[in-house]
Amino acid sequence: PKADPILVADDVTRAFGGIAAVDVAHLEVPRHAITALIGPNGAGKTTFFNVLTGFDRADSGRWTFDGQPAERLGAARAARAGMVRTFQLTKALNRMSVLENMRLGASGQPGEKLAVALAAPLWRRREREITDKAMTLLERFRLDAKKDDFAGSLSGGQRKLLEMARALMSDPKLIMLDEPMAGVNPALTQSLLGHIRQLRDEGMTVLFVEHDMHMVRHVSDWVVVMAEGRIVAEGPARTVMHEQAVVDAYLGAH
Ligand code: ATP
Repeated sequence: PKADPILVADDVTRAFGGIAAVDVAHLEVPRHAITALIGPNGAGKTTFFNVLTGFDRADSGRWTFDGQPAERLGAARAARAGMVRTFQLTKALNRMSVLENMRLGASGQPGEKLAVALAAPLWRRREREITDKAMTLLERFRLDAKKDDFAGSLSGGQRKLLEMARALMSDPKLIMLDEPMAGVNPALTQSLLGHIRQLRDEGMTVLFVEHDMHMVRHVSDWVVVMAEGRIVAEGPARTVMHEQAVVDAYLGAH
């Protein structure tokens, strides 16, 4: 067991049509560290993310976030508790400006439904504060000059930065990044990795999903490997990659 983990999950299962997408006996996510959840395509990483953050239901299992039971929170309350995940930009979000995307992140749960929240009086009172915060984050991620552009016009790397910046709008304790390096050119990858490290250095806990194991080597403090729904190995990046179970999981996937 790790000292004071931020997230602890036990016996979490989720099946689709009799196939176990997730069947995790035990997971601990260390606090103030960068953890990569890796595994070949179809390993169940995204499903596990969805379940933990309340965007999908588990068939069974228990987990705590920051010491509190979290399996019944649902997506909105999990986000408010400080567990925030990124989302790939959907069609609807693509048609909104960069700044509008950021403002949706203030609710911790971006999505099409939240367009409705724009009209809520409570939301409007905080509008100035939210816009100021959005601009500060856009400057940090060097997207401020793009604030009025459609999110859909951004490059692959800029979209990843926007997804991250948007998640930070709700001041998470744990930021869960969905394939933050996918479709990002090498130059911007370095910048992205720098931002991820900086979040950790500021005291945040980072958990990210990635299927390419070579991408995680230089940025992860801890690596958890999933295959066929189960966790098959975990450890520091430089050693876990060479474990037989990990080599087999990746070979088996090709
Ligand atoms: P990738 O790296 O390709 O994103 P992954 O590790 O995230 O893969 P999941 O997307 O979680 O894997 O998928 C795990 C398994 O669950 C796969 O067999 C997938 O087909 C199945 N699955 C996921 N979501 C659903 C769904 N909504 N309905 C049916 N099957 C699903």
